[in-house]
Parts: sequence; C-alpha cells; structure tokens
Amino acid sequence: MICPRCGSNNVTSQAITETNISTKRKGFGCVKACIGWVLFSVPGILCGLCGMGKEKTKTHSNTRVIHICQNCGNQF
Ligand SMILES: [Zn+2]
Repeated sequence: MICPRCGSNNVTSQAITETNISTKRKGFGCVKACIGWVLFSVPGILCGLCGMGKEKTKTHSNTRVIHICQNCGNQF
C-alpha cells in the first residue's frame, strides 16, 4: 500500500464503523406506500397514511476500511 499523496509505503489500515442516526419528520411517502403495497397489500397503504407526520428515527451503520499514511497523515 502506497500513499497517493506522498508516495510513502508507511501506511496502516484501519476498519472503522460509521453510525448514522437520522431523525426525520415527513409526510406520506410514495416509496413507503409502494413497500406497504408489496408487503401488506392494501393495509400497507393504510399504515403509510397512519404514519403521516410521525417522527422516524433511522439508524444506519456500516463498516469500512480506511488507510492512514503515517508519513503525511493522509487518509484514503
Ligand atoms: Zn502520505
């Protein structure tokens, strides 16, 4: 592994976990309705309508590997 900035091969790899928590307040979503339709048929549409204006908390986490140059501190 070579740093693209300075060309040093003194690079360490590190696995990091990113967690994104987003709180959204939104109205009736078309996508949600479609999903509701697929999963529950007509009741899904009703659930989508019932969820109007409610606050939704969504947690999304993913792990990725980053490389850190020990020479210049570049992360890539
Ligand atoms: Zn570097």
